Amino acid sequence: MDKIKVKGVIVELTGDEMAQVIWNNIKQTLLNPFLELNLITFDLSIQNRNKTKDQVTTQCAKAIKKYHIGIKCATITPDDKRVKEFGLIQKFPSPNGTIRNILKGTIFREPIICNNIPKLVPHWNKPVIIARHAFGDIYKSRDFRVKKGSEFFVEMKPKNKSTYKKKIHEFENDGIAMAMYNDNKSITNFAKSCFNFALNKKISVYLSTKNTILQNYDENFKEIFEKVFKKGFEKKFLENKIFFQHKLIDDMVASMLKWNGGYLWACKNYDGDVMSDLVAQGYGSLGLMTSVLMTPDGKTIETEAAHGTITSHYRQYQNGNKTSTNPIASIFAWAKGLYHRGRLDNNKKLIYFSNQLEIACVETIENGKMTKDLALVVGPDQKWLTTDEILEEIKKCLLRKLN
Ligand code: NAP
Ligand code: MG
Repeated sequence: MDKIKVKGVIVELTGDEMAQVIWNNIKQTLLNPFLELNLITFDLSIQNRNKTKDQVTTQCAKAIKKYHIGIKCATITPDDKRVKEFGLIQKFPSPNGTIRNILKGTIFREPIICNNIPKLVPHWNKPVIIARHAFGDIYKSRDFRVKKGSEFFVEMKPKNKSTYKKKIHEFENDGIAMAMYNDNKSITNFAKSCFNFALNKKISVYLSTKNTILQNYDENFKEIFEKVFKKGFEKKFLENKIFFQHKLIDDMVASMLKWNGGYLWACKNYDGDVMSDLVAQGYGSLGLMTSVLMTPDGKTIETEAAHGTITSHYRQYQNGNKTSTNPIASIFAWAKGLYHRGRLDNNKKLIYFSNQLEIACVETIENGKMTKDLALVVGPDQKWLTTDEILEEIKKCLLRKLN
């Protein structure tokens, strides 16, 4: 079989520990035999981030911006223990945060559905894709402990106008207070990313807020979404028979449990933080969750598995033991990235390949061939394979699809 030529550049970001071990195996088993890739690779391992004083992270983000596609392996976000373990010159920030800030994108978390993997919420048979507005609100707030007898004010100083000051509360007892904000440009970009992502997938969008209580703060989110939708997306949504709707967060949470999935849920920052964990658990496994960062114009994406570097498995691997680490989310990161490259270049063979790669993963699992994390959810009689064995099974399935 001739290899598919992929002329457009793909920015590859390599990472750490077990995630990097399976990364190499995926390339060897499922990509290199089929594709002639044009990769620009950045080594985002913790050692290299240390060596380059984290410059490599900024460089790779700029490359993703230029070439419109990045595919990322999981990386260590150092804490104090890691600083010691690797003798780091500094506790570097999360690479994902740095890349997101440069691309100004939104993260979409999407579960991979396999019919034979039981879900905590059994009727979720289509993905609930969560988009989190990862800017502002409580994450950029100031919070205070307040002494009894204090008065709490907010003060606003519009440019060239007089100060506006409002008393919020007089404390009869000791208490707490908080001030927070958001930014309309960031909310607009968030709305654009969500609508572009949904158009690509042909799914509807729900935005949840508490605008009945926060009649300025949350109402502003609603208004911006409606404005962006009317201006740039309403027609295209109609053509694709999809819709946008605002829902009160209470109503959305209740509906989400009741419904089957198959939509995009745009969440404010805190809601997205909490709900993405709830939804991930509802679908069952971290090894079956992917994550896509998309820019507001929908042109540039970075894909990755939602899980981390799986340190516990890496320790086993370092001791020479075979592990049963689930490679599916990382394979999907490649498939989604390749699909995007295919669409940008109008490379039909590549689009076909990336679709078949996803199908081969799901079919292999649905044929009862899976890693230990999934087997444990299925039940005590379910057999499981090592990482190498499952990759070989997926390859066999993929070959059947492509021939
Ligand atoms: P993790 O790597 O996601 O692993 C947590 C546990 O989940 C594992 O110990 C394993 O459970 C299970 N698991 C996760 N992915 C799996 C897979 N593909 N196959 C089978 N089991 C899987 O999270 P962590 O241990 O909290 O973090 C480890 C490192 O990853 C940290 O340094 C953290 O900074 C980093 N991290 C990076 C990213 C990213 O780059 N996006 C995201 C999260 C965390 P068992 O041990 O029970 O088998
Ligand atoms: Mg969270």
